[in-house]
Amino acid sequence: MATFIVLLGPPGVGKGTQAKILSEKTGLAHISSGELFRENLKNQTELGKLAQTYMTKGELVPDDVTIAMIRERLSRPDCKKGAILDGFPRTPAQAGALEAMLQEFDGRVDVVPFIKAAEGVLIERLGTRWTCRAEGHIFNEKTNPPKHDKKCDFDGSDLYQRDDDKAETVKRRIEVYYKQTSPLIDHYRDHGKLVEIDGARSIDLVAQDLLVAVKKQYV
Ligand code: AMP
Repeated sequence: MATFIVLLGPPGVGKGTQAKILSEKTGLAHISSGELFRENLKNQTELGKLAQTYMTKGELVPDDVTIAMIRERLSRPDCKKGAILDGFPRTPAQAGALEAMLQEFDGRVDVVPFIKAAEGVLIERLGTRWTCRAEGHIFNEKTNPPKHDKKCDFDGSDLYQRDDDKAETVKRRIEVYYKQTSPLIDHYRDHGKLVEIDGARSIDLVAQDLLVAVKKQYV
């Protein structure tokens, strides 16, 4: 049966950074819904243009559109053994749809690491975050700076500040998280899948805890 790991946590807590590390360590595919929307936007697809109208406001893209996009992504061969889901599900309806999809793909959600940090930490991190244009690699001006100014260490592409990392939108994204996504914490806790991780520490320490949480479940 395929193994799916859902990374839960507020914007800026480090889900993307940690998902990349975990994907390298486990060999599972990394699926970031935000990154898929940004790729669509870069390619100016209809989906990308639609998603942008929500993303720029810090709102969630409607469930049906998001679920269809993830469904297509999960059906690809690199997800046969499972995947690390970063940013999906983000609503109870998406969590329900995920359960149904995974039954079909002979998989299940094994563990849900919930990475948390105080709001002040999130705001500070998002305000100093730089993202790579090519692959979405993530850096931070203060805590994880690139080796060369505004260039990605991994692929040399330009680093930019995401529009939705600007202060006004960040506030809304955090509100939306508390309102629409945080009910999933209890949902997965009730299902015995939640593992809480302190995300206010260094990338390495968080990565170590995550690996332990994930291994306990599926080794
Ligand atoms: P992220 O890269 O995860 O911070 O996502 C960036 C933006 O993409 C979010 O603020 C939403 O507008 C949109 N988005 C990403 N994932 C989802 C999702 N699962 N459901 C709805 N909207 C999403």
